[in-house]
Amino acid sequence: MSATIVDGKAVAAELREELAAEIVTMTRTGSPPPSLAVVLCGDDPASAIYVRNKGRAAERAGVTFALHRPPEDSTTAELVALVRSLDADGSIDGILVQLPLPRHVDAEAVTGCISPEKDADGFHPYNFGRLAEGHPAVVAPGTPLGCMELLRRSEVPIRGSRAVVIGRSAIVGRPIALMLTNADSTVTICHSRTPDLASICREADILVSAIGRPHMVDASFVKPGAFVIDVGTTPRDGVVLGDVDRESVEPVAGWLTPVPGGVGPMTIAMLLRNTLALARARRSLARV
Ligand code: NAP
Repeated sequence: MSATIVDGKAVAAELREELAAEIVTMTRTGSPPPSLAVVLCGDDPASAIYVRNKGRAAERAGVTFALHRPPEDSTTAELVALVRSLDADGSIDGILVQLPLPRHVDAEAVTGCISPEKDADGFHPYNFGRLAEGHPAVVAPGTPLGCMELLRRSEVPIRGSRAVVIGRSAIVGRPIALMLTNADSTVTICHSRTPDLASICREADILVSAIGRPHMVDASFVKPGAFVIDVGTTPRDGVVLGDVDRESVEPVAGWLTPVPGGVGPMTIAMLLRNTLALARARRSLARV
């Protein structure tokens, strides 16, 4: 047996096309297209690449994209003022502050100025709370949403499954565990202090690894036939490495999301979906 390799790039392209079609329908009724404002402060080259990719994807899908580039030496107060002005601007549907911000800036103070109604990243405590309470949320963090979409489009049964998530961060591990729980999976969250990690993981029909330790997850972590989602991305010597040791896991797993080309491309598609959802909610448009 060899795992089916889940093509996140193809699924993300499909999703972007679906979003583009929905946006065309939205604008046909006279509504302006969804708009996303991105704040990129500083000269971090990786952040610049992420933002450029987000901008390209947004434009291709028909989302209006406005980039704000305050200088590296901006103060917390200046960035707070910028984000507050974007939050008050009625023509903007979603706001994203690209992290990390420069070290001297209080990142929480800046991102805390984004209201839940404009929270394109889905990180706001209100939106996180909705997810934690099991209510439908308008938006949710993009990477976990992307993982759920890959599961759904692969037609894997989630209800009644056993899932194990390695990682408990607020942006990946915890929200994916909540989403799986809300979809009726029975979920265990593991972390760096979990004993017998591999044996717990071997119970999983769905195994999500969001650690950031290249190739740590080998065949000894994987139940035969499991759906293995590799969220980890660690840049090394010009390539990006996942958490999963593909050579060892591929003969055992039923499905495997590769790195690169698995979860990564889905994150941007989900950012655009969040932006569209915010636009609809702000304009009270039903889904068409
Ligand atoms: P993070 O905040 O550093 O969290 C890592 C988690 O892994 C923590 O909960 C940590 O446990 C756990 N961990 C670390 N070493 C471990 C070990 N030896 N055994 C078990 N658990 C261990 O990272 P993150 O922001 O969640 O991101 C996780 C990975 O996903 C990173 O590689 C990141 O680059 C990648 N990522 C990819 C995308 C994408 O679009 N593809 C998006 C976001 C993140 P403790 O809590 O005990 O420290």
